[in-house]
Amino acid sequence: MEQNNQIRSTVSVMEPAAQTTSLLANYQPEFDMDFVKRLLGRQKTGGLTRSTRNRLKQMHEGVYQLLHPRVVWGVFPVAAIEKGRIEFVSGLTLKSHKMARAMTGAEQLVCFVATIGRKIDLKINQLMDQGRIANAYTCDALGSGAVESVAEKFQSGFDRKFSSNEVHTAAGIRFSPGYCDWQVTEQHKLFSLVDAGTIGVTLDKSSLMTPRKSISAVFGLYPKGSGPATKKHNPCFYCFKKDCLARRSPAETIN
Ligand code: SF4
Repeated sequence: MEQNNQIRSTVSVMEPAAQTTSLLANYQPEFDMDFVKRLLGRQKTGGLTRSTRNRLKQMHEGVYQLLHPRVVWGVFPVAAIEKGRIEFVSGLTLKSHKMARAMTGAEQLVCFVATIGRKIDLKINQLMDQGRIANAYTCDALGSGAVESVAEKFQSGFDRKFSSNEVHTAAGIRFSPGYCDWQVTEQHKLFSLVDAGTIGVTLDKSSLMTPRKSISAVFGLYPKGSGPATKKHNPCFYCFKKDCLARRSPAETIN
């Protein structure tokens, strides 16, 4: 039987890494089309309608021109991971049972905020004002797919970097405030770690980000040989929430 101390990770104290801002100047934006299609209803219907497919095709290039991807991030040493909480060396604590379990063994957490900028928000608002609701919805889904792609590319960059690193191994799965059992109000803690204002992202009292197509998230860096490859690091294996758009893998008994 698993004991509580098996999900504790206590590591040597390191100085927090300096915050780094990446403007992703050479990054070519992409859309996570799988995510876009899920947002547009593919899950429910088994496929997109012809009109939705045509609308996606027509709007793809125009929305692409609106993307301005940027990321700000920092790497922060972890002091301890106990059931339901992750404590940084600085004393800041993140509270989520699923995330704490998933981060078991992580020595550092990468905290980041990614955005595709505000032009797409303006476009969505314009389409809504014109009563072009279907186009606004499609534009919104493409924006979500684009910022999802920025986050994926940023994290895979760490995967590549750390796969050749002598000390650390690949980054673990990503968590964002508001997903799983991590309260959205903890978004304020992430914003206290990285200066999202440098990429034009702000947070209001309701924990909502502006521009809307922004993502804040964390993922873990693990010592070599203890990477997050096992099921215990992925809460989706044990979660039976059927309509979750953020699902990373099927649950064990859901096909
Ligand atoms: S399916 Fe996965 S991402 Fe969604 S709530 Fe469950 S554990 Fe979290």
